[in-house]
Amino acid sequence: MRTAIISDIHGNLEALTTVLDDIDRRSVDQIISLGDILGYGPNPKQCVDLVSARCEWSLLGNHDYGALYEPTNFNKAAEDAAFWTRAQFDAEEDEEIAKKRWQFLGGLRPRTLLGDFLCVHGTPRKPINEYLFPDDAINSPVKMKQIFAHIPKYAMSGHTHVPGIFTDEPDFYPPDDLDEFSFQYMDDDHFIINPGSVGQPRDLDPRSSYAILDDEKFTVEFFRLDYDIEAVREKIHAIPELSNWLGDRLLEGR
Ligand code: ZN
Repeated sequence: MRTAIISDIHGNLEALTTVLDDIDRRSVDQIISLGDILGYGPNPKQCVDLVSARCEWSLLGNHDYGALYEPTNFNKAAEDAAFWTRAQFDAEEDEEIAKKRWQFLGGLRPRTLLGDFLCVHGTPRKPINEYLFPDDAINSPVKMKQIFAHIPKYAMSGHTHVPGIFTDEPDFYPPDDLDEFSFQYMDDDHFIINPGSVGQPRDLDPRSSYAILDDEKFTVEFFRLDYDIEAVREKIHAIPELSNWLGDRLLEGR
């Protein structure tokens, strides 16, 4: 089965539609989302509608949690964005549509299984809020060990907006270090996939990121796509509640 893994869309509709168009050309059996559909970006409602229509399921990210329940450990710009995002859903005039969206958001799960993969937004031990950074592979061997202890076999997570593969050596492999951006794994390997971010990449590459898992060929392929960043930046600048920085950072991929 070929599964497209998307994550951290953050209300960026231009990035999401670009990624979905690309996925549609690559004979994929299903699409899954690792959370943070909204928060930061100018089109949270449209992104939620597209994810609920196109994805098998989506997980609960910290920003989904922030808009739905309450922002936790957010800086000022992120908290302002969370309250603005919540207000967009509250302002929906069509009651049926509003109800459907809240039901979809309320049904997001913090963790689930996809075959042998444990799927979370944050980390396998703290699925909503904990970060697993590339540097942890070098600087935090104890944290890596504890996190890998929570994984039945393989795992996938988002949240850092940095794509790559974590192994239990421990090590981290960005897509650029892989042969043709593709990771070949074996049955008894232990690793965590991070597909990167669709709507707000933070690895200094502003292009949208996602991955395709083929669990018959045992491969994980990473993809990067240009999209209309300027259009999203302009929309963000036009919304007073969204900090201009949220638009500017998209240009730099950070
Ligand atoms: Zn995120």
